[in-house]
Amino acid sequence: MKAEIIAVGTELLLGQIVNTNAQYLSQELAALGIDVYFQTVVGDNPERIRKAIVTARERADLLVFTGGLGPTLDDLTKDVLAAYLNRGLSLHKPSMDKIEELFSSRGVHMVESNRRQALSIDGSVPLHNAAGLAVGNALTEDGTHYMLLPGPPREMKPMIDGPGKEWLRTLLGHEQPLYSRLLKFAGIGESNLEAKLLDLIEAQVDPTIAPYAKEGEVAIRVSTKAATQAEADGKIDATVEQIIERIGEHLYAQEDIPLEEAVIQLLRTSRRKLASAESCSGGLLAELITSVPGSSGEYTGGVVTYTNEMKHALLGIPLAQLEGEGAPGAISESTAALMAERVQKLANSDFGVSITGVAGPAESEGKPVGLVYIAISERGKETVVYPLQLSGSRTIIRVRAVKTLLYRLWL
Ligand code: ATP
Ligand code: MG
Repeated sequence: MKAEIIAVGTELLLGQIVNTNAQYLSQELAALGIDVYFQTVVGDNPERIRKAIVTARERADLLVFTGGLGPTLDDLTKDVLAAYLNRGLSLHKPSMDKIEELFSSRGVHMVESNRRQALSIDGSVPLHNAAGLAVGNALTEDGTHYMLLPGPPREMKPMIDGPGKEWLRTLLGHEQPLYSRLLKFAGIGESNLEAKLLDLIEAQVDPTIAPYAKEGEVAIRVSTKAATQAEADGKIDATVEQIIERIGEHLYAQEDIPLEEAVIQLLRTSRRKLASAESCSGGLLAELITSVPGSSGEYTGGVVTYTNEMKHALLGIPLAQLEGEGAPGAISESTAALMAERVQKLANSDFGVSITGVAGPAESEGKPVGLVYIAISERGKETVVYPLQLSGSRTIIRVRAVKTLLYRLWL
């Protein structure tokens, strides 16, 4: 079944609110195995809502509306759809009773417009609103299915999750829901990953394999339709195994967690602590790590030593190491090692890590943009330094440096 989500509301078009309903509905419909082909946003305007219906009918079997079920004059969705289908609107008695009850319990006089929320398109299935007053509707005509949901997310969610899905399941009959698993990778770029899996991706039928990249990490979603979770797991496991054979050393999680969280989990299991000294990444590593809830058990803290003076003052790195004729400089293997070692001692942690390099846009110390040294100093072991030549903008270089360091830690 092909679906189109139609979010109604001028506020959405003006950018005053974000269309989170479309996101939620897309996820829920996908989980039922319904393919969402289009998402539309249309203002509170009867002619344009009508046009949206006409267009959607040509390309979808299921039209899911959100918004415009309220009492005010700009809430038009039901009126427009009823008119389009040449159907009337009638009061839904239980909803009307609920509205009257609410007003009398509050001792407020009910204005006439509130009755609008209890209107139901003739011949439709009323969808109970557990968190508000406007009743939803579901109906089928000429092979097209329509569902009307309220705009406020706190009303829309229980309606789709409860009576909405119940109705959809009866439509779907034998169609099976979609199950998927997210695999997260680090230390490998998207194109490299795709190249290694190209034959699998090209030959995929069931399960499907969809790679995508975000914020210095790449992920693959493996999806399949199945009758039960167990059946889906069986199919997905077999595909995951093939993927692991190729690029298993880069797979850090089979769920949607960021790399920093996987690193914190590892440190937690091995009961070890981490400290950091950052230069070109300006505290990004500290930011990512501390955004993992509960990371204070594993992360002691860090310093941002951006200038040579601060590298000297906080970490005690000799100025002669950092500047002057023949000195290795701040961006060097030996400085990266010293930063990691000093912060490890300073924090008395098990690991000290460091990042120093040229994020750009201009070169520094005569060293090229993208040259970054990351170092890991582990208590009682020799410090390891990795020179990286990264590409991209200043932001991307910083993110990649941090993610590469996290990957090295995770390994
Ligand atoms: P109400 O009874 O509150 O008027 P309604 O069904 O008429 O509900 P709208 O008037 O379109 O819905 O929207 C009411 C509020 O719900 C909006 O101000 C906004 O906060 C939220 N909302 C509406 N549509 C969306 C959407 N697509 N995504 C997220 N929030 C939404
Ligand atoms: Mg409204």
